[in-house]
Amino acid sequence: MTNVEKTKENLFKCKCKVCPTYEFTCKMKSIPGNLILMISDMSDKVHAETMFCAFGKSSCIEEKNGCLCPKCEVYKKYELDKMFFCIEDGEK
Ligand code: SF4
Ligand code: SF4
Repeated sequence: MTNVEKTKENLFKCKCKVCPTYEFTCKMKSIPGNLILMISDMSDKVHAETMFCAFGKSSCIEEKNGCLCPKCEVYKKYELDKMFFCIEDGEK
C-alpha cells in the first residue's frame, strides 16, 4: 500500500475516472459508492472504487488498457513509481 492520503483534494486530482482501463461497466457500478464517498469523511474508508493508489485495487477492473497515473499530480506529490494500482495492489 502507498502513503497517499485519502483526501478530497487528492481525489479531485485522481485521473482514474478518465482512464481507459477504468471500463465503462465498472464505472457505472461504482457511481453510488463514489457519490457517497464524496460526501463522507473518506479518511477512514478502507476501500473505494477510485483513487486506487490509496484505496487499493479494484474489485471490478481486470484488464490493462493504459494507466494515467504517471500524469497525475498525486503521483508526483507522493513520489509513486508503480502503475495500475487498480489491478495490482501498490504494484507496477
Ligand atoms: S490506477 Fe492507473 S490504470 Fe488504474 S484506473 Fe487509475 S489511472 Fe487507470
Ligand atoms: S496516482 Fe493514479 S490512482 Fe493515484 S490518484 Fe493519481 S491517477 Fe489516481
